[in-house]
Amino acid sequence: MTNVEILNRLTSCAYGNKDHALEMQKVWQRILSQVDIELFIKDHRGSIRVEKYEEGDCPFDGCKKEFFIKKESKLFNCWMCKKRGDVISLCSKLLKKPLIDVAYYLVEKYDVDLEGLV
Ligand SMILES: [Zn+2]
Repeated sequence: MTNVEILNRLTSCAYGNKDHALEMQKVWQRILSQVDIELFIKDHRGSIRVEKYEEGDCPFDGCKKEFFIKKESKLFNCWMCKKRGDVISLCSKLLKKPLIDVAYYLVEKYDVDLEGLV
């Protein structure tokens, strides 16, 4: 089964009687453990038009040196605009996509392993 087929099943209303939010939790966990937030930021530099993420420019407001990634927790944080979160919320905010689209987008782009979820 492909990743898209797995996501289709997990997000389909016809999928069993299981709690969909609970099923999606497993997808979010896979994404968080397999998608590198630093790689995501580098990959999306062009679409968010900021040149120097590595040095801490915020992708939302461009404020300099205020944007940090905490390596251990894989969370981003901007001291200036107060935006913070994980790679999922970063993707949703930056690309202005609803969470379900973010799941498809990140799983496909980073080839997240979803095997065993359905
Ligand atoms: Zn900011």
